[in-house]
Amino acid sequence: MAKIVEAEIRSVLSTITAPDGGNIVDRGMVQGLVVRDGHVGFSIEVDPAQGNQLEPLRKSAEAAIMGLPGVLSVTAVLTAHRGGSAGGAPQRPVAAPAPRPQGQHPGGNKALVPGVKHIIAVASGKGGVGKSTTATNLALAFTTLGLKVGLLDADIYGPSQPRLMGLSGRPESRDGKTLEPKQNYGVKVMSMGFLIEEDTPMIWRGPMVMSAITQLLREVNWGELDILVCDLPPGTGDAQLTMSQSVPLSGAVIVSTPQDIALLDAKKGLNMFRKVDVPVLGLIENMSYFSCPNCGHRTDIFAHGGAQREAAKFGVDFLGEIPLDIQIRETSDSGRPIVASEPTSPHSLAYGEIARKIWQKLDATPQRAAPRIVLQ
Ligand code: ADP
Repeated sequence: MAKIVEAEIRSVLSTITAPDGGNIVDRGMVQGLVVRDGHVGFSIEVDPAQGNQLEPLRKSAEAAIMGLPGVLSVTAVLTAHRGGSAGGAPQRPVAAPAPRPQGQHPGGNKALVPGVKHIIAVASGKGGVGKSTTATNLALAFTTLGLKVGLLDADIYGPSQPRLMGLSGRPESRDGKTLEPKQNYGVKVMSMGFLIEEDTPMIWRGPMVMSAITQLLREVNWGELDILVCDLPPGTGDAQLTMSQSVPLSGAVIVSTPQDIALLDAKKGLNMFRKVDVPVLGLIENMSYFSCPNCGHRTDIFAHGGAQREAAKFGVDFLGEIPLDIQIRETSDSGRPIVASEPTSPHSLAYGEIARKIWQKLDATPQRAAPRIVLQ
């Protein structure tokens, strides 16, 4: 069934003329085509020099596919073509948000992942700030609120959720099409780390990033979830942008250290989500202060409190602070995250409080369809 639809899509797209002759399919411009339950996504590789003029082409490609029977939503993304290079750095999606008229999402008000109420991204301006550790503990904290929770490790460059969640092995598939998520501590987890050998170098090109993420999102039997926590790769580059665009996010949470705030990395994260029209739910200051494992004495190593001030300056909410604590490191690095292994510790309660604030905001937000993307 999916194959027939895919062929139909290609056949319709081949009626669209490429800028320098021929059609966009034969010219190899259509990449990363994904069809799932009536939702269609693909990218169109374009010459960045022509970028600005090609928005009508993107629009007509979307409109043509939307006209096919059974299609519920279409997301076409323009990605910049770099002379057909195979591999190398991910390609730059040339993108910015389209003004989205109220109530006119590509897929109506349907969530793109059936059964999943909210998807949130946990992001950071750079690596090593504790983004994955925060994503794991937040996911666990959501279960303590009585929610059904999934954790999608979208950090396809350095998946760490299998280790953090104490999971290993390949996921099973009951029907040969969808993967069963693995489960621990009451959270369903899917990660590229289950599918590739650890330390396998992966080279991802733009369209591959989009289809890998789309598969991890949609070709997994998530079942009914209240919230799916998505651990994004660190940074604010093209891959992150592509993901923020291809996943129907209800919002994003930015994790940063006090230093990171000072260096304005967190601000880049904020700007990225604003650019793709994803609400920023707030900022979490991680490794906020040092809590001595022996005497419990608290030391502010960096300029503590910067996140709260900066959050106010950027106009986003400050969700809370998590100290630099050996227990947090040891428990997450050994696959027993603190919220699961020591649920009543003050740090676990701090994660719980942050989760509560996030859920409060989400509960008041209607579900979102995937953002539409146009050239600037
Ligand atoms: P990122 O996802 O931002 O690259 P990780 O979550 O992998 O960062 O964290 C990097 C390292 O810092 C890990 O060893 C992790 O255990 C540790 N870490 C994260 N948060 C804390 C914290 N609050 N206290 C102590 N160690 C932490």
